[in-house]
Amino acid sequence: MTAFVNCPTVDIEDDRTGLSVETLRRALADNLFYIQGKWPEVASTNDFYLALAYTVRDRMMPRWLSSTRTLMKPEVRVVTYLSAEFLLGPHLGRNLINLGIEEPVKQAVAESGLDFTELIAQEEEPGLGNGGLGRLAACYMESLASEQIPAIGYGIRYEFGIFDQEIRDGWQCEITDKWLQYGNPWEIPHPEASVTVGFGGHTEGYTDSDGRFRKRWIPGKQVKGIPYDTPIPGYRVNTVNTLRLWKAEAVESFDFQSFNVGNYYGAVDSKVTSENISKVLYPNDEQLEGKQLRLEQQYFFTACALQDMIRIHLASGRKLDSFCEKFTAQMNDTHPAVAVAELMRLLVDEHGMGWDEAWAVTQKTLAYTNHTLLPEALEKWSLSLFGSLLPRHLEIIFEINQRFMDDMRVRYMNDPGKLAALSLIDDNDGGYVRMANLASLGSYAINGVAALHSELVKKTILKDFHELFPGKIRNVTNGVTPRRWIALANPRLAALYTEKIGDGWLHNLEEIGQLEGYADDPGFRAHWRQIKRDIKQELATYIYQRTGIAVSPDSMFDILVKRIHEYKRQHLDVLHIITLYERLKANPNLDMAPRTFIFGGKAAPGYAMAKLMIKFITAVGDVINHDPTIGDRLKVVFLPDYNVKFGQRVYPAADLSEQISTAGKEASGTGNMKFSMNGALTIGTLDGANVEIRELVGDDNFFLFGLTTDGVDALKASGYNPWDYYTSNPQLKEVIDLVQSGFFAKGDSNLFRPLTDKLLYDDPFMLMADYQSYIDCQDRIGAAYQDQEHWSRLSIINAVRMGKFSSDRAIRDYCRDIWQVSPAPVEMMAYDQSQAGLRV
Ligand SMILES: *Cc1c(COP(=O)(O)O)cnc(C)c1O
Repeated sequence: MTAFVNCPTVDIEDDRTGLSVETLRRALADNLFYIQGKWPEVASTNDFYLALAYTVRDRMMPRWLSSTRTLMKPEVRVVTYLSAEFLLGPHLGRNLINLGIEEPVKQAVAESGLDFTELIAQEEEPGLGNGGLGRLAACYMESLASEQIPAIGYGIRYEFGIFDQEIRDGWQCEITDKWLQYGNPWEIPHPEASVTVGFGGHTEGYTDSDGRFRKRWIPGKQVKGIPYDTPIPGYRVNTVNTLRLWKAEAVESFDFQSFNVGNYYGAVDSKVTSENISKVLYPNDEQLEGKQLRLEQQYFFTACALQDMIRIHLASGRKLDSFCEKFTAQMNDTHPAVAVAELMRLLVDEHGMGWDEAWAVTQKTLAYTNHTLLPEALEKWSLSLFGSLLPRHLEIIFEINQRFMDDMRVRYMNDPGKLAALSLIDDNDGGYVRMANLASLGSYAINGVAALHSELVKKTILKDFHELFPGKIRNVTNGVTPRRWIALANPRLAALYTEKIGDGWLHNLEEIGQLEGYADDPGFRAHWRQIKRDIKQELATYIYQRTGIAVSPDSMFDILVKRIHEYKRQHLDVLHIITLYERLKANPNLDMAPRTFIFGGKAAPGYAMAKLMIKFITAVGDVINHDPTIGDRLKVVFLPDYNVKFGQRVYPAADLSEQISTAGKEASGTGNMKFSMNGALTIGTLDGANVEIRELVGDDNFFLFGLTTDGVDALKASGYNPWDYYTSNPQLKEVIDLVQSGFFAKGDSNLFRPLTDKLLYDDPFMLMADYQSYIDCQDRIGAAYQDQEHWSRLSIINAVRMGKFSSDRAIRDYCRDIWQVSPAPVEMMAYDQSQAGLRV
């Protein structure tokens, strides 16, 4: 028969795809025996976890391979998502939910005498990202699959992801993240699909066989990119998309030249340097790292991705002039912006396309997402570094720029300022390539990540591009996946939603709006409170285990978790804590809602002020938590090692979500959405997506404070002087004075000096200006929390109005407004669908 190309036809309960509890149990035992090579008596928890993971992976394979086949069809349009970071979080729980096999698997695990919760907890999460940007890429991969959009994510398989954080004596310590050390059951390497990537060397001109003058690049070194594929299943659909992460290896493990002259060490050395490229994730969030290796990483994965896309396209029998019909490639920030030059190089140098046609194809293929306006995060590379690593690409960028500037000179005759602003090259200090300009010019669309942010992009960094190409800059407000951030993180809340309105909300989050009427139902409110109380109790237990601090689940959980950064203003939260502490010391009988302040977040290892902010939080906590006159009324906890797993515990346990960045600095935020979806009320500035959250939940359900973006600009323009706030606000003065006295530093009045001095004499993020407004707002919150029925009402209304912030909606926005791509449901190939037991 001809069935060889098809998925296995399943007649009986196949050991690898069957879903009865009995079959799952047998598969688990088989995998332990045949893959882990262990008898149950000697197997570790990790062995059992791996056996379970393989059991689940097998059940994804028919869908995964069918999805890949769909994607290869010439007429199917495909989205590729190019991102230096994918902060995925654990796979197992998400896969069970999306495949709809949680129940039988749980039962099979239980009947095998194993603890399901323990196995889930065993998974080491792939921390291949820093924060919001990487997590967004992960949510988008999941929603692309759930929306049945054929897609490939391209990135780097870092051997070491974001460091693990430990807190010692209140200071952050970084520990290497060895996430691969006990095996990764979710990836499949494909060495047969490896590609070669060049670096350095020189370029030369030549005349081709048609007599045309051409350029070619003679790289000084070559590195092999090996793809590792990870399946990303959509929610209850056949689509299982691929995340393709590249590992760098030496082209030859041995340099035989060196080997033959007896230099064994030198022979292996080139292998080591090649592999450095995918060794470690740069741990900077919102901060440029101008190192050569970082540019090598960016070029490496971008070049691997584009070669892979061209291979797929040509394999379907089509020509490269239709490349932009087959693919749209989204650049997640400027990290892959060298794609503009690399695609031009591939089309022109390697595939002999004419410049103008290649430029049209490039511009119609690429699209760019801007994630930041912070000057310290805007990527630029010195011409000398760029030219030595990518000489041909620099020539191409110069050529693109020359043609662009020629056009612009005609358009803006006497406006050198315009030309300088639009140029791909910054002429200062020996010259730089501006990656945001390169990405903007080489793309067919640019988008910001929240309504306010997109408007600010148009008004500030890309103002001149906006004027030149009206309509090119759009907005796609970020979103998060409700499968991970509600169903997996908060199963009780998910069960309540499903009990009341069915489970359609998991596909279409807007449906939770139907629950709004329940805000007036006292029984529902009581149930709502009980759910929150239970999760807070679980978090309290975890806090006690991790830190030894006992906190009361009856206090308000006031939570600030995100990367530590001055613009995010963790220290403003601390000023509030000290204010409350001083009030309680002055008036021990003060009636106030007890609060537990919970912080979490990693600081970039080279960011001294952020590390000092962690020490500040822990030091203030040390004093307050041990002050017997305070008791349960104030507790301050810094929970180490904020990551996705940690987030799944923390977001659902919050009463209050702190979103307190200086207006205009946070592009969108996604933590704000996760909190809100889980019933936390927000205290926030008019920044990022807070603006849209507030619009939807209503002014009465959002605790707003602080300067607006215009207010910030006006105050800066009028000559901001933070010292004036210190001298004119006695409460603020008392707080700062207490810190400066060394009270929280065992008498050391120098420890926090850098922090207080920066506030008093510079204060670029305007904490001093926003302090009083923040305190007043917190006082209103304290009062509102005292009335629990009222608070529950606000909490319910707030949560059920979050429908918009599903990443499914964001992906639909991209499909409609940018990518022009439609769902392509996956057809299972000669596969008995009833065996999968899934909705198709
Ligand atoms: C959501 C998330 C972020 C982003 O948080 P923001 O508050 O938007 O900065 C960062 N890290 C992790 C692990 C997350 O889950």
